[in-house]
Amino acid sequence: MNSWRVKVCWSSCSNLLRRLIHTQGVSAIRNAFSGRVVFEEIKALSTGNEAYFIVDGGAKGVKAAACRIEEEHILGRLFDIDVFGGEAPISRTELGSAPRRCMVCGGETLVCRRTSRHTPEELEEHISALIRKWLERREDT
Ligand SMILES: [Zn+2]
Repeated sequence: MNSWRVKVCWSSCSNLLRRLIHTQGVSAIRNAFSGRVVFEEIKALSTGNEAYFIVDGGAKGVKAAACRIEEEHILGRLFDIDVFGGEAPISRTELGSAPRRCMVCGGETLVCRRTSRHTPEELEEHISALIRKWLERREDT
């Protein structure tokens, strides 16, 4: 697929791309926890779709696997996977891993989000680039 088609798609049906990213995230989770997912629910919210899983396993091990998805999947930087052991989500620092890196500047994602460091256009550009990369990789296989 060429970049032109992706770009047109992004500006005219970004909602569709958001759903594509969501679907890829869900299947990455299903694959990673194959045979251990005991409950799954997908909710369509006005802010986008959210998926909830109950996975059989220790929370820290599950969080480590979720971090691997976020780091290794081409679209992983676009996924937001929270793992709850009890009431609060488990943080990366609890696992002794580095905080998430921003896809635009490589700084700490949380800081960039909190300070709105990047413009929506800048983010969109990086998201389109990741999706292009993902589409190209799919064509190779
Ligand atoms: Zn940044």
